[in-house]
Parts: sequence; structure tokens; C-alpha cells
Amino acid sequence: MINLYNFEIKKLENLMEEYGQKKYRATQLFKWIYEKKVSDFDLMSDISKKFIDVLKKDFYLKVPAIYKRQDSSDGTIKLLLELEDNSKIETVLMKYNYGNVACVTSQVGCNMGCCFCASGLFKKQRNLEVAELVGQILVLNSLLAEKNEKITHVVVMGTGEPFDNYNNVLDFVRILNHPYGFAIGARHITVSTCGLVEKIKQYANEGLQINLAISLHAPNNEIRNKVMPINRKYPIEELMEAVKYYEKTAGRRVTFEYILLRDINDSDECALELANLIKGTLAYVNLIPYNPVNELKYQRSSNNRIHNFLDVLMKNGVNATIRKEFGTDIDAACGQLRAKNEKAKNL
Ligand code: SAH
Repeated sequence: MINLYNFEIKKLENLMEEYGQKKYRATQLFKWIYEKKVSDFDLMSDISKKFIDVLKKDFYLKVPAIYKRQDSSDGTIKLLLELEDNSKIETVLMKYNYGNVACVTSQVGCNMGCCFCASGLFKKQRNLEVAELVGQILVLNSLLAEKNEKITHVVVMGTGEPFDNYNNVLDFVRILNHPYGFAIGARHITVSTCGLVEKIKQYANEGLQINLAISLHAPNNEIRNKVMPINRKYPIEELMEAVKYYEKTAGRRVTFEYILLRDINDSDECALELANLIKGTLAYVNLIPYNPVNELKYQRSSNNRIHNFLDVLMKNGVNATIRKEFGTDIDAACGQLRAKNEKAKNL
């Protein structure tokens, strides 16, 4: 039995042909499951009874279960979802003034080992299936439906490295973007990577208009090697070359994410070095106040420091903003709720 949420429309069309059906069956199914939100094959009235029986034999439609829920006073909802193999993943809903943003997890655990991140406390167990990526949006949409709302923006910035689960994340993005899928505009979807250079280049060639964010977090190899082990494989020079390739090939600019870690990467010198590093690109910098993680030694920079850092960037011609924070009264830092749950399990 296969979860039918695993198929983006082209693959669903091929599947329908394999079953001796016309291609348009895929469109019909997409409309039922995403537009009309029907998960019971028996209700799909324009599909023959005979083929419904075939579908029921080989396929099912199922979303992850809500295992835990935390609500913040600012409207942020953090869910710990349980998958069919009992793995737990985090999904977050953030309410911005421009819309409802889903922060989606791409892997169970993560192998990138960024020193400041709670997600990396537990190694990657596996990639998420397309249905498990799609399922996160479906669960959030079912909560929002009570208020006649839905997810309008998606950031693949939860636990995991999306480009280490490249094919599934791309199929997920195709379902998000498709008019009979979630119909979310490409410019409302962002994929964030720690900097897998070959994949950035591959992504540049996909012809997608999806936003690309890159977790930079340091202005030079010395600091980046310390906080992000992936830098030893893909040093900053190679990363910047990939960014330029992306700008040229995709015709889009990237956003650099830069977490400010006290006394590690937050000095005026670092800001100046960062400004020089990204000169010659069209990139934009998103400064992220660090969300401290209990198990880790890193601290957040003071507000004063954050603003001074921003000032230096702006004075040197860099387009930058400070990221708005959400859910500070719940386990907001990436992977923190899951980490707490995994630890409790081992007690
Ligand atoms: N692996 C991808 C996507 C997941 S992490 C990536 O590296 O981009 C999403 C973003 O959250 C990254 O920029 C990551 O560095 C950042 N992040 C991780 N832990 C954080 C914390 N405790 N506080 C603030 N941002 C954090």
C-alpha cells in the first residue's frame, strides 16, 4: 500500500497510465485530494467504481498524527507530529501580518552537525517521504480551516537539510505550487540550505522560481569551519561561486541567513568582512537573533550588538533586516521540542 500524497502531478499521470487510465485521472485525483480535501476514495464521484476499488487496494491517503501541540501567545503553533513508523517531527505555524507561514521539516534528525542547532543533537534517521512533507501542510491547514484560513507561505527551514533530501523536497514544492495542488505561488515558498554546492547548482538549473536561502552564519572559513562542519567540505569560496552561478542561471538572488552568536560572529569586523564577502552578489542578509538551546553553550548577541551589526552592513551597501521572532514562550528553537521528547524517551 502506498500513500497517494507521495505523487506530484507528473508522476501521478505516469502512474495512472501504468494502471491503464487516461492522464486526466491524475488531475481529477489532485482536485479531490487537494482542492476538495477529500481523503475517502468512495467520495470521488467522477471516478468509476471499478477504478476506485483498484485505488483502494493499492493506495491510501493518510496524514501524520498530532502527538503534541504547543500554542504561543503570539499565535505560533508548534506541533510534534507522529509518522507511521512512530518517528516524531516538528512543524511550526507562524502568523505574519502577510500570511500564515508553515515551517516544514525535511528529515528525521539531521547530519549537518551545525554546532548551535538543536536539530543536530540527533543524527539523521531517514529522509521524509513526499507524503510526510505534504502531510505537514495538510495538518496545519486542517487546524486553520476552523477559522476559514490556510497556509499561504512555506519555508523548508525545520529540522533537516532539504538538499540532502533533494528529490522529495522538489516534488513537495511542485505539489505546493501546482494550481490543483496547494496553489501556493513560487515566491511564497522558500527552501533553506546549509550550502550543498552541487545541489545549489542543480537547483539553479531546475527553472523554478522558488526562493533560495543559504545559512551562512560566518564571514570567513575560520569561523564557519567551527560552527558549521559542512564548510570543511564546501568552503566559502565554493559556496559564493555557486551563489553567483545561481544568480546567473536562475536569474534570482539568494537570501543569506546569519545567526548572531555572542562573541563568535557578531563583531563590527565580522560585519565588515561579511559586507566585503557578498559584494558582487545581489544577495540580501537576514540577521537571526539566536534562540538559545539548553544543551549548547552558545548565547544570543545583545540587541544593541545586533543593531550595530546591522548598521555596519547597511553603511557598506548591504541590504539586510533582522528576523522577527515567534513563539519565544514555547520551545521555539529549531528541533527543541523534538529534542525534549527524544530525551524524555531515554530517561
Ligand atoms: N538545513 C537547512 C534548513 C534547516 S535550519 C539550513 O541549514 O538552512 C533553518 C535555519 O535555522 C538555518 O539558518 C539554521 O542555521 C537556523 N537555526 C538553527 N538553530 C537555530 C537556533 N537555535 N536559533 C536560530 N536559528 C537557528
